[in-house]
Amino acid sequence: DLWQGIDFSRSKAEARVDGSTGVKFSDVAGIDEAVEELQELVRYLKNPELFDKMGIKPPHGVLLEGPPGCGKTLVAKAIAGEAGVPFYQMAGSEFVEVLVGVGSARIRDLFKRAKVNKPSVIFIDEIDALATRRQGIFKESTDHLYNAATQERETTLNQLLIELDGFDTGKGVIFLAATNRRDLLDPALLRPGRFDRKIRIRPPAAKGRLEILKIHASKVKMSESVDLSSYAQNLPGWTGAKLAQLVQEAALVAVRKGHQSILQSDMDDAVDRLTVGPKRVGIDLGHQGQCRRATTEVGIALTSHLLRRYENAKVEPCDRISIVPRGQTLSQLVFHRLDDESYMFERRPQLLHRLQVLLGGRAAEEVIYGRDTSRASVDYLADASWLARKILTIWNLENPMSIHGEPPPWRKKVKFVGPRLDFEGSLYDDYGLIEQPLNFNLDDEIVQRTEELIRDMYERTLSLLQRHHAGLLKTVKVLLEQKEISGEEIEFILDKYPPQTPISLLL
Ligand code: ADP
Repeated sequence: DLWQGIDFSRSKAEARVDGSTGVKFSDVAGIDEAVEELQELVRYLKNPELFDKMGIKPPHGVLLEGPPGCGKTLVAKAIAGEAGVPFYQMAGSEFVEVLVGVGSARIRDLFKRAKVNKPSVIFIDEIDALATRRQGIFKESTDHLYNAATQERETTLNQLLIELDGFDTGKGVIFLAATNRRDLLDPALLRPGRFDRKIRIRPPAAKGRLEILKIHASKVKMSESVDLSSYAQNLPGWTGAKLAQLVQEAALVAVRKGHQSILQSDMDDAVDRLTVGPKRVGIDLGHQGQCRRATTEVGIALTSHLLRRYENAKVEPCDRISIVPRGQTLSQLVFHRLDDESYMFERRPQLLHRLQVLLGGRAAEEVIYGRDTSRASVDYLADASWLARKILTIWNLENPMSIHGEPPPWRKKVKFVGPRLDFEGSLYDDYGLIEQPLNFNLDDEIVQRTEELIRDMYERTLSLLQRHHAGLLKTVKVLLEQKEISGEEIEFILDKYPPQTPISLLL
C-alpha cells in the first residue's frame, strides 16, 4: 500500500509549533492601532481563568486582513510571543488536498493539539485558499477532479466552522486567520460569533516606515550617518516586508564592497536594485546617446529646482540623477517626496508646475540641440499629456467639462504621475507603470485644449531654461563626467550660475 505509514491527518503544523515564537510587539511597527487592539488577546492568553471568573466572553477568532507583507504573520506571532504560548501555524493551501477527508482531518488535528496545549494560538495564513465562497448547491461538473476538489474544500470549510463554533469548550485557544482577499471568503465564516473581530493591517505611512526601518536596521550594522528618515519619506507604498528586504540587500551590498558597516551609498544601491534592478554592464549608449539622456534628465530636474527657487512651486526637488543603466532603464531620476499634506491639498498651480517639470526634458533638448529633438524625452511627454488631460477633464480644474462617450473597451499602459487616492482614501504615490484607461474618443475640444495647455506650459519652461542656459550646460557636463549628480550639487551649480549667465563663463 503506497500510503502505508503516512498519516495524512497529522497536520504539518506540528513542525512549526514553538514554545515561544520569540517575536514581541516591539518587533512590529507602523500598525499601532492593530497592535493596540490585539493587546487584549495577550491579556486573555496570559490568564484565561480571570476572564472566565469575571464572566467576560473569551475572544473568538480574529481575522487580519490586508495586503501581503504588512506584518499579519508577524503580529500573530507576536501575540503568541508576548503571551509565551505555543503558536500553531498553517497556510490555507495546506488544507486543500484532492484526497477526500484529508483537509478536515487536518483541521480537527490542528485544533485538537492546540487545545491540548492551551493556552495557545492557531494561525491560518491565506485562509481564502481554504474558505472561498461556496457554490451553494453543489454544481456537478463533468470534470471529476474538479468535483472532488470542490467537495473536499467544502468539507474542510465545514469542519473549520464546526471547530470555531465549538470554541467555548476549548477555552484558552485563540484563532487567528489572515487574508488579503476578504471578498472571496465564504459569508458563513464572517458571521458573528466566528470572527468577532476583523482587523485591517494597512501598509505603513511615512512615520511607520521609519519605525520599521529602525527595527530592521538595529539587527544589522548600520552606519550612524545613514539618514533612515529620508528613505522612509521617499519610499511610499513600501510594505514592512519590502523595507526589511531593503535593509538585508543593503547589508549584502556593504559586504560585497568591503565596508565595515552599511553606508548611505549602500542603501541607495539597494533601493535601485529593488526598484529598477542591478547595474547593467556591457551596454553602451555611445557618447551621443549619453549626452541626450543626460540633457533630458537634467532638464526635468533643473526645471523643478528652478520653479522651486523662483516661483515657490510645490514640486519635488531632485535627489539624484544617474546615467548608469540598471535593469530596464538607461538612466534614473530620483525625486525627493514632499510631505503628505502637499499632495492632499494639491491645487491647480501646483499641477501646472508639475506639468512644466515633465516638459523640462524636451525643453532642455531644444535649448541645447535646437528643434531636432530625440526620443529620449518621449516618455516624459506621454506623462505630460496624460497629466494635462487629467487637469482638464477628470479633475475639472479648468472650466468644468465632461467627457462624452464610452471609454474604449481596451486599456493602454501609461505612466501616471502624481499622487492618487486609493480606494481607502489614503494617499500614495505611484510613479511606476499602472494600467489606466486612456480615452481616445475625447471630444475634439478637449484634445485641442490639452494641446494648448501643453504648448503654453512648454513655452514657459523653454524660456525658463533658456535664461539658465549656463546652469543647464554645466549640470549636464558634471553629470556626464560623474555619471551621477545629487540634488545638492544641482543647487550649488544654480547658485554659481544665476539667470542670464553668459555661457562664455563656463569655458
Ligand atoms: P504578511 O503576513 O502580512 O504577508 P509578514 O508578517 O509575513 O507579512 O511580513 C514578512 C516580514 O516583513 C516580517 O517577518 C518582517 O520582517 C517584515 N515586516 C512586515 N511588516 C512589518 C511591520 N509592520 N513591522 C516590522 N517588520 C515588518
